[in-house]
Amino acid sequence: MWVHVETMAVSLSEDTSTGQTIDNDRLKRDILELAEIGRNEEDRGLYRMAFTEADMEAKQWLLDRMKLSGIKGRLDGAANVIGRIGPSDPNLPSILIGSHTDTVPRAGMLDGALGVLCGLEVLRILKTREEELTVPVELISFTDEEGRFGGMLGSEAFCGLISPETLYQKDLDGIELRSEMEARGLNAFDALNARRTPGSVRAYYELHIEQGPVLDEAGESVGIVEAITGLFKWLVRFRGEANHAGTTPMHMRHDAFMGLADFAHEIPRILEENGSERSRATIGKAQILPGAPNTVPGEVEFSLDVRDTDPAILDELADAFRKALSAIARRRDLMLELEMQSKIEPVACDPDLVANLEKKAGELDLLWRRMPSGAAHDAQIVSHLAPVAMLFVPSRDGQSHSPSEWTDWEDIFAGARLLLESVRSIACEKSTP
Ligand SMILES: [Zn+2]
Repeated sequence: MWVHVETMAVSLSEDTSTGQTIDNDRLKRDILELAEIGRNEEDRGLYRMAFTEADMEAKQWLLDRMKLSGIKGRLDGAANVIGRIGPSDPNLPSILIGSHTDTVPRAGMLDGALGVLCGLEVLRILKTREEELTVPVELISFTDEEGRFGGMLGSEAFCGLISPETLYQKDLDGIELRSEMEARGLNAFDALNARRTPGSVRAYYELHIEQGPVLDEAGESVGIVEAITGLFKWLVRFRGEANHAGTTPMHMRHDAFMGLADFAHEIPRILEENGSERSRATIGKAQILPGAPNTVPGEVEFSLDVRDTDPAILDELADAFRKALSAIARRRDLMLELEMQSKIEPVACDPDLVANLEKKAGELDLLWRRMPSGAAHDAQIVSHLAPVAMLFVPSRDGQSHSPSEWTDWEDIFAGARLLLESVRSIACEKSTP
């Protein structure tokens, strides 16, 4: 991994390019104001899960904010908030900046929201010299990135990756997406019309908190993402035989839990032999059945979440895990069932956009590094439609999905500045190739 350490200290407020720069105070005000929508006063967490009242309020807030700066905004069929500036020709491919304003329950104020608000600030700055834009610039806040209804509805709809079946998906409480959208006055089937044509987006930028400890520990302001991790999630079941814990001799048991225990022990070896230093494997949920202290477990069901940024390694890991599970089932005389629950392909960020970000980070004298993204993001979905780039700002102590999520203001401003300068350099190009 590369670490760039700049020796020259240059104030961030110094403008090294033409044109206006990020209004730090305005950005700060926006962040704090949006953080009041959906806040629970007792636990200080945010509750803006997709299509809740607070989520819809945040969308309206963003539309109002854009209107204040003369930016035309609208909701598309999937309730994505979209604003657009620059040349009015609708056929010109745009630069798209986005993220999401929905949250998990009891969330912090930066996951998703920061990328949208930095994008809003970039559009406001570029709007002041709109006549210089040769490429339209769009802002998007995607619906349901956090997957209340299982997927990433907004970005998937935007890329034409949903079907009518998607609209019948249910959340954990059994509420159907279609009826929840209708309750908000939206026609769910309009989501199928949110699809954008390939070629209509020239580049997608997403700024996001890292959600991990790397930048914070290194004291760096910005991470330039080179690849976003892919993953597969399995539901694994070992079936043995439930029996009396006292009367069944040890050598005559078909103990399903022992299968899980054997497997858990093999994970480090499999990662070492078949994975990379970026590989991760997690058993996050397990259930022993029938679940009585005096009964030999007849069945065990557990999740397996495996991640890497290289598709070939991910395939190799899937093979190795499958083989290990079958071998354990044979050895312990258990039945094995494997259910693939989801699979997301890893995505490489666009090399030209990455190079441009690196160049601009150098010009701004930022402390930065190249890094992978271990979490999934809308950028992964948008890569089906357009080249993507992501930049990270540090998460203090690596905290995320909790009210303690935080990034120092100076790092937020640095990230926003880098986003602005990178987008500006493409949006103001004199001749588009
Ligand atoms: Zn996010």
